[in-house]
Amino acid sequence: MSYDPQNIFARIIAELIPCNKVYEDANTLAFYDIAPKAPVHILVVPKGPYMDFEDYVAHAPAQEISGFFQTVSKLAQELGIAESGYRLITNKGEHSGQEVPHFHVHLLGGAPLPLW
Ligand code: AMP
Repeated sequence: MSYDPQNIFARIIAELIPCNKVYEDANTLAFYDIAPKAPVHILVVPKGPYMDFEDYVAHAPAQEISGFFQTVSKLAQELGIAESGYRLITNKGEHSGQEVPHFHVHLLGGAPLPLW
């Protein structure tokens, strides 16, 4: 399987469709999930063409990966959920139910989250 450059997050990154942006830098975009599952539910997305976590870890430069997760942490603090707690989720592949084939991390918090 190869990266689909027409996937919805690629089109958001290319500014072909809008998003409710929280943060942007050269490598990363973060925006609110359109169907939130918690009071705070954002998606943190690297701008590069990575299909999923496996692809990202295998092919992104180590410095970019490190910066990405530092950004996730910074956003949790800025959104006021670092102390109360939050959940990070990344879906990979069919069994996970991954809908969008562009690597992203869900950052959820703002209230006690249901257990599985
Ligand atoms: P996943 O199953 O991990 O691929 O999750 C994809 C997520 O993207 C879901 O939580 C969707 O609600 C969300 N989503 C899909 N389209 C958009 C969009 N245009 N803007 C914001 N979030 C979206």
